[in-house]
Amino acid sequence: MLISENSKKIIDSCRFCWMCRHICPIGNATGQERNNARARALSLQYVERGAAELSECIDNVYECALCGACTKECATGWDPIVFTKEVRREAALDGITPDYISALIEKYGETGNIYGKTDYCDCIKNEMADLDANADTLLYIGSDARYMAPCFAKNAIIALKKAGVKFTVLADEIDSGIELDTLIGAMEETKEAMTACADVLNKYKTVIVLNPSDMKVFVREYKEWDIELKCELKTYTSVLADAYRNGKIQIAKLDGKVTYQDNPFLVREVGETEEGRVICNAAGEYVEMILSKKDTMLAGSFIMAQWMDDVMKLVAKERMANIIQSGAKTVVCASPEDYAFLKDAAPEGISVIDISELVI
Ligand code: SF4
Ligand code: SF4
Repeated sequence: MLISENSKKIIDSCRFCWMCRHICPIGNATGQERNNARARALSLQYVERGAAELSECIDNVYECALCGACTKECATGWDPIVFTKEVRREAALDGITPDYISALIEKYGETGNIYGKTDYCDCIKNEMADLDANADTLLYIGSDARYMAPCFAKNAIIALKKAGVKFTVLADEIDSGIELDTLIGAMEETKEAMTACADVLNKYKTVIVLNPSDMKVFVREYKEWDIELKCELKTYTSVLADAYRNGKIQIAKLDGKVTYQDNPFLVREVGETEEGRVICNAAGEYVEMILSKKDTMLAGSFIMAQWMDDVMKLVAKERMANIIQSGAKTVVCASPEDYAFLKDAAPEGISVIDISELVI
């Protein structure tokens, strides 16, 4: 297996301290030792030293959501995500990508998204109808909201209209690159997808990014590839918080305590923790759940659900336990994935709402 010196260094520097063991959402959901950064580093050490074939542990390399919880805890200060993504790329180059991943890449080649969708819900199209196509601000919805959680996209368009933002949404929006980056890492195809998306975004002065996972790719991976984004990028949550601060929107009042699901990409990769809380604090009595802000836990992933759907349901159930424990009656979500997976996992008496629903 060809693997960079940097990744080898990270794999070999694992001290097996177990600090990452208790915070992996996948490991916590499955209860399996193999599902954490430590176990993955160990099996890849065997491969690196010629004692095992990569094909023997490739499934394990795909049992990671790249959520960064282990990176935050890792005692070595290295980033276990680096070798996980790099090994995914090596598997693709060596032709040993698992069949279930190859099938998604094939769908991506055919439709431009791994979900194989060729159309999206009329609820989005209806709200797009009266937008000004010449606006210099673009709301980038992303594939997850467009195809997997259309109400989340629709509600965002409605909320931005209420805030008086002059913006447009593209009917033929293309993937940010997050899908290929997750499946095969830094391959040439991934760079091509990102460059094509950047070319479109750069036609706008400002781009409001709805999905934190797309924002993460724009601020992190594009930089690594030297793909220039000349437009000003804003998270959707920061736009809502500014609109509230400037008196452009009101926030609905909720009965009972309210908490906020920090999206892992938004807090750990983009570095935003407060903007969503500005809205939640205005909605009612705010309570913080455990494992919040930079310590947050993944609540679900549409991409990973394509091959680990049952595990994603367990991940959401684990996160829901934190919400219930907080005493909150409502959890507010700022990502389409958090919203969809937590909603499915919510017991009676717990309300899961998308942050746009609070805008009046
Ligand atoms: S990135 Fe997240 S899912 Fe992957 S090993 Fe680390 S904690 Fe687990
Ligand atoms: S925290 Fe880092 S050094 Fe410790 S076991 Fe996990 S990956 Fe290895």
